[in-house]
Amino acid sequence: MFDKILVANRGEIALRVVRAAREMGIRSVAVHSTADADAMHVRMADESVCIGPPASSESYLSIPSIIAACEVTGAQAIHPGYGFLSENANFVQIVEDHDLTFIGPRAEHIRIMGDKITAKETMKRLGVPCVPGSEGGVASLEEARSLADDIGYPVIVKATAGGGGRGMKVAATPDEMERAFITARSEGKAAFGNAEVYIEKYLQKPRHIEIQVFGDGKGGAVHLGERDCSLQRRHQKVFEEAPGPSISEEERARIGSICARAVADLGYAGAGTIEFLYEGGEFYFIEMNTRLQVEHPVTEAIFGVDLVQEQIRVAEGHPISFSQDDLKIDGHAIEVRINAERLPDFAPRPGRITQFHAPGGLGVRMDSALYDGYSIPPYYDSLIGKLIVHGQDRHGALTRLSRALGELIVDGVETTVPLFHALLQEEDIRRGDYNIHWLETWLENNLQG
Ligand code: ADP
Repeated sequence: MFDKILVANRGEIALRVVRAAREMGIRSVAVHSTADADAMHVRMADESVCIGPPASSESYLSIPSIIAACEVTGAQAIHPGYGFLSENANFVQIVEDHDLTFIGPRAEHIRIMGDKITAKETMKRLGVPCVPGSEGGVASLEEARSLADDIGYPVIVKATAGGGGRGMKVAATPDEMERAFITARSEGKAAFGNAEVYIEKYLQKPRHIEIQVFGDGKGGAVHLGERDCSLQRRHQKVFEEAPGPSISEEERARIGSICARAVADLGYAGAGTIEFLYEGGEFYFIEMNTRLQVEHPVTEAIFGVDLVQEQIRVAEGHPISFSQDDLKIDGHAIEVRINAERLPDFAPRPGRITQFHAPGGLGVRMDSALYDGYSIPPYYDSLIGKLIVHGQDRHGALTRLSRALGELIVDGVETTVPLFHALLQEEDIRRGDYNIHWLETWLENNLQG
């Protein structure tokens, strides 16, 4: 059992982990940059250590500083949250070399899934359905052209090391191939230090459906159904729901058991998400995230589990505390991501919060690190809160979301809240009828003008 864990993150997710640890009787250590000395995660943790200046590269991404903070405080394990070092296999290795526990999967699994080509090959071998495309990397433009002719246009050229929606370019016709190939390579090289690319069939109107999995690291695993995260802007999710409005119980059981079996075969430990595009009743694997997702609370809501506590328990060597048969869906949950951004261009708007009031009541959860008088620093992600609602069914969740958004007060900075008020008026959203392009099209027609 751990007595003390260090949370190598900031903002709402650091708070999420501190809360989970406290309920388990585990002390928590917050780390922070000089810009975050007054942050909520620092106030809420049992102890805190300043690990460097504002730039993430010198603080939240500084491996020596984080390891030193563990040594100084006697923390036995590190929870990485999402982002920052959460999918850095090298970090996991260093943590283990210092006889500390990483609360997450083994370095080997992070490495496999961090390279999209290896990830796809591995998943294919484990029986997970994949998007048709190149077998491995594509080295030359000629090879790219000939593959695209076989697969059929449109195709998407993707950087092997890509992430966060970067390093992906669509070629709708052979004429566009050269540009897509060159741009994806140079973006991959610039953002991730790796120019390798691969090619996939570009699906026209898919939904983004992801399966939450959980492994015990010893060959056992369960799945916790799907989340539909199709509402995206620039490949970034803004609104997520579970269960997916388009997924039947049979489909869930089928794809869920394929995913659970794959994760069990890998010997994977802890929480993971297998992401698919879903079109015409078929699932196509795109990538696996080897960490907790931003949108994990919608899954927690409908299954009544605490995924963070489960991560900690499994990292301590305990078995998963629920079986597949224990997992029954209760109602419907929706999360909206509230960013400090100006509409309509989504430009970051950090600043001082003059008033903050979180909504409450039955079925409402607000995960946020805001407080009255808090100054959002300009150095980090613009996510300032997640509003999660849980209703008896999808209609109940939508009604509750509208009510809760009405109660939320964030004064002092501009936020994306008006976007959600507007989306809730849309018939397609009310019906659950949308795909990965819906939001971009809607934004062009309704906001950008
Ligand atoms: P990242 O790691 O950058 O998030 P992903 O591979 O997960 O990249 O893809 C992110 C998003 O890009 C998907 O949710 C989807 O909107 C779009 N996308 C990726 N691959 C395809 C494809 N083959 N066809 C259509 N859209 C795709």
